Amino acid sequence: MKIAVLPGDGIGTEIVAEAVKVLKVLDLPLEMETALVGGCAYEAHGHPLPESTLKLAMASDAVLFGAVGDWKYDKLDRPLRPEQAILGLRKNMGLFANFRPAICYAQLVDASSLKPELIAGLDILIIRELTGDIYFGQPRGRRIATDGHFPGAEEAFDTMRYSRPEIERIAHVAFQAAQKRSKRVTSVDKNNVLETSQLWKDVMVEIGQQYPDVALDHMLVDNAAMQLVKAPKKFDVLVTGNMFGDILSDEASMLTGSIGMLPSASLNSKGQGLYEPSHGSAPDIAGKGIANPLATILSAAMMLRFSLNQEAAALRIEAAVQKVLEQGLRTGDIWSEGTTKVSTVQMGDAVVKAL
Ligand code: NAD
Repeated sequence: MKIAVLPGDGIGTEIVAEAVKVLKVLDLPLEMETALVGGCAYEAHGHPLPESTLKLAMASDAVLFGAVGDWKYDKLDRPLRPEQAILGLRKNMGLFANFRPAICYAQLVDASSLKPELIAGLDILIIRELTGDIYFGQPRGRRIATDGHFPGAEEAFDTMRYSRPEIERIAHVAFQAAQKRSKRVTSVDKNNVLETSQLWKDVMVEIGQQYPDVALDHMLVDNAAMQLVKAPKKFDVLVTGNMFGDILSDEASMLTGSIGMLPSASLNSKGQGLYEPSHGSAPDIAGKGIANPLATILSAAMMLRFSLNQEAAALRIEAAVQKVLEQGLRTGDIWSEGTTKVSTVQMGDAVVKAL
């Protein structure tokens, strides 16, 4: 089982090191190879996604990814910015289906900014389409650059587009995921305004007919954003496009207490996947040893489940995470009165010990 390990920038290296430590004690035949991606790859090779890194990722069963980005690269031309690496990996590997479970652990009910009764027992799955929509639309507008900067630009545009096959395949993923859960799908769009959303809704209805055991409803994205904080437990599987999913899944992460707890999986049609925490490179806390590694450790569990067919090992990791939370161990982002504050490394060590 070959894993490409791409820690990236900022806290990426710190949190991925803990996930690797956890994977190593599982006693599985895992072959892990590390490569540069993001800002550090740009510094070393002049590109955020060097050919060698892409090749390694494509030849692996799974990619374990940390995070990329730093404000210091904001002035770079867009194709050279660290964030382009993740878009390039998604596009080249065909990772069209992004799974972001938002689970509120009983021990973290108080870490959420919402009332405990709203989120206790929360377990929703956001499925975000990942390779279409406005992030990949053509034509893509550019601000006109003068001397490398963009002062005084008058206009800019990006094009939102979806094709029928792109919506069909994510619809199948959502309905099949719902079949394994409570058999309900909420499709989120903005069909009252956008043509892409009308196509999205029409295709969802069509594909839904092939899954008579799954109930489908539709919600406008602005309402969905509101309902997620008003009554999040009403949702089960929520499926949406790339941009709406980007925003809603971050919103959902706060229901669980911290973005530092949220894993994600991005899969292609061959079962190859890229696994990463839902958060970014957190330059504000990078290098301080205080980042929460649990989202990355839980992403490694998803990797074992979805790409490496090691359900038992995935469950072991998830149980170990539960255990350290029960022990009252908390990184700063999820700390509350009466619990024990630990560092990134101490949290990783505790998960290893629990395993
Ligand atoms: P961010 O997710 O990096 O951080 C948002 C806030 O959450 C920060 O206050 C940060 O300290 C905190 N946080 C994030 N992860 C945490 C963790 N594991 N433990 C504790 N606290 C954590 O988002 P941002 O600040 O908007 O972006 C920073 C950089 O990350 C930008 O360059 C952005 O483009 C990039 N980014 C990358 C990815 C990715 O690699 N997939 C995703 C989102 C943002």
